[in-house]
Amino acid sequence: MKLNEMNIRELRRLLDNREVSVRDVLDDVYGRIDAVEDKVKAFITVSRDEAYRMAEHAQESIISNRMSLLSGIPIAVKDNMCTKGILTTCASKILHNFIPPYESTVTAKLKEHLYILVGKTNLDEFAMGSSTENSGFHTSRNPWNLECVPGGSSGGSAAAVAAGECIAAVGSDTGGSIRQPASLCGVVGLKPTYGRVSRYGLVAFASSLDQIGPITRDVSDAAAMLTAIAGHDPLDSTSVSYDTPDYEAALGKEIKGLRIGIPKEFFIEGIDKDVEEAVHTAIKKIESLGAKAVEVSLPHTCFATAAYYILATSEASSNLGRYDGVKYGLRESGKDLIDMYMKTRAKGFGTEVKRRIMLGTYALSSGYYDAYYKKAQQVRTLIKNDFANAFKEVDVIVTPTSPTPAFKVGEKTTDPLQMYLSDIFTISVNLAGVPGISIPCGFTKGNLPVGLQIIGKHFDEETLLKAAYAYEQSTDWHMRRPSL
Ligand code: GLN
Repeated sequence: MKLNEMNIRELRRLLDNREVSVRDVLDDVYGRIDAVEDKVKAFITVSRDEAYRMAEHAQESIISNRMSLLSGIPIAVKDNMCTKGILTTCASKILHNFIPPYESTVTAKLKEHLYILVGKTNLDEFAMGSSTENSGFHTSRNPWNLECVPGGSSGGSAAAVAAGECIAAVGSDTGGSIRQPASLCGVVGLKPTYGRVSRYGLVAFASSLDQIGPITRDVSDAAAMLTAIAGHDPLDSTSVSYDTPDYEAALGKEIKGLRIGIPKEFFIEGIDKDVEEAVHTAIKKIESLGAKAVEVSLPHTCFATAAYYILATSEASSNLGRYDGVKYGLRESGKDLIDMYMKTRAKGFGTEVKRRIMLGTYALSSGYYDAYYKKAQQVRTLIKNDFANAFKEVDVIVTPTSPTPAFKVGEKTTDPLQMYLSDIFTISVNLAGVPGISIPCGFTKGNLPVGLQIIGKHFDEETLLKAAYAYEQSTDWHMRRPSL
């Protein structure tokens, strides 16, 4: 097996035993990028020179036995996290030339672990979308079928992991952007509890929902990555001060007696038949491991998408006010200040971003605020309570991650509502602030991956990972690789 196809644990052993060098691993990773990136288009920036520089440093620490979990592991970073001195575009023309003067907390933590930055991955502009088709630069492709999208908005990260162009990646998830692309690309994607991981240096989309998390080949890698990036950060007041557990220690424990909730509202009409079948089979498998399936109800699920698109667009309209041609990136000249603002924003933002700024500005405008924003906040509380009630009965909740497998490029671009519906199963998890993971659970007849979503209680990523790992160990879906 080539080094670029291995997981963190395997590479850690080879690197620590000095059977391979960090350079060897990077050679395989960039060899793979040279071979397939033209087709997959997962990256906006490939930081090869920087990576080989980081490799020397990591190698020295391995030689002197000062290695840590991620020392020398090539990881890709979604291009909405600030990396000091390295272009960070958020896939927007308005930030086409933005080189951050500071490092995000997540990448700073990865740096402390001596990770290797492979490059910055593609996304929907400002993380708004479900397919990477809203990227201001290019659309990434699904490694399982190049005619299909990889999902979004962290589509570049998921595609890069699936295609073997990195070992692991980080993404961000506001309404499903880690889990949905992970599901569509046949990899693992974990959205931690809101507050578990610092968002300092993450370009803000909807601040009450945004959360950073790992996209990996398997559950143990997700646990390793979460252990590295979680924790309190004085630079993000929404990050909690709880101790970070050693998530890898949660793996391998029995799940006998675990109560898994099956929400009846999630098995709806319109869900793809192959997806439904794969998820039902997966639930049977989890039961065969000793877990007990119980039907639960999340009665306000049907309002989640509507509430999300009010709240997320409102927050975005405010957050994106800072792109004015003065502080960052693109600046168009105009006859006066207002004209300059308008020309810069007209040219710099893409259609979806403009749509959301308009929707959000409208929802927040006086006279409409109570009817839309306040109402959506109230619905959010009901959704949060739904989860709290369900978690009185069960330890985790299991659902499909996405109602369909990967769809064709162009299939949903003319109908934003159809696109919005691809997050119907992930959005309520962000609204409630609870953690969720997507893991591979099968393939459609057309050989496209299907993802299973496991949702946990606030700050109970351990049970989530334990259940996900137990299931994963009893299947081999995560071992399959696309033939590219
Ligand atoms: N697809 C959803 C949206 O377009 C979620 C995006 C995200 O999680 N960043 O808003």
